[in-house]
Amino acid sequence: MASKKEQLGIMGGTFNPIHHGHLITARAAKEALNLDRLLLLPNARSPLRMEEALADPQQRLEMVRLAVAGEPGLEACDLEVRREGASFLVETLRDLQLQYPDADLTFLMGVDSLETFDRWREVAQIVKLARVKVMPRPGGSGSEALDALEKRAPVLAGKLELMAAGPHIELSATEVRNRVRAERSIRYLVPDAVADYIYLNKIF
Ligand code: ATP
Repeated sequence: MASKKEQLGIMGGTFNPIHHGHLITARAAKEALNLDRLLLLPNARSPLRMEEALADPQQRLEMVRLAVAGEPGLEACDLEVRREGASFLVETLRDLQLQYPDADLTFLMGVDSLETFDRWREVAQIVKLARVKVMPRPGGSGSEALDALEKRAPVLAGKLELMAAGPHIELSATEVRNRVRAERSIRYLVPDAVADYIYLNKIF
């Protein structure tokens, strides 16, 4: 009997910082898609968000590591942080394909990424290298945003799949950063180890 190919998921983001919205949706997606492993991939820098003040990439990666420590099947991936400079998903997927030649790759992104996806480098290649799944997020299923994207970029028509409604967690890294700056508690919003790391290193 042919052995089943490894199902490898990748969830990219700035993770500035990682929070329970990411973690709950990551685990739900891993289960819904029967992924063997899900890599959480912090960007060194998003080319489309260059103006944003970001915590140091190594620190964002370390927070991802702390958040997934001991959680089977969820792993931090350092490929983009190690590469430095602007992060291009197409390059990362090519690296992953070399590293895991026998795996099927699935890239997960939130509905908000549909607004910019057509401007990512070599999108036509991205959807060849990986299955792309769009995770729901409070504020909409994403179907309108997906229609609009396919009109702007016909090459993507039928290539992205919306995931069935999963958990809707109304939480963003922006809210976490704003609360840290306002000296309000971030307990329950991020794992305790991540909160401790933020305070110890005076991030944000
Ligand atoms: P920011 O507030 O800084 O824009 P963010 O909370 O949206 O950050 P990102 O690191 O940009 O976090 O997100 C990484 C990925 O996780 C994106 O695809 C995003 O859509 C998704 N994501 C973030 N927060 C949630 C959430 N609460 N529910 C579902 N998906 C989420």
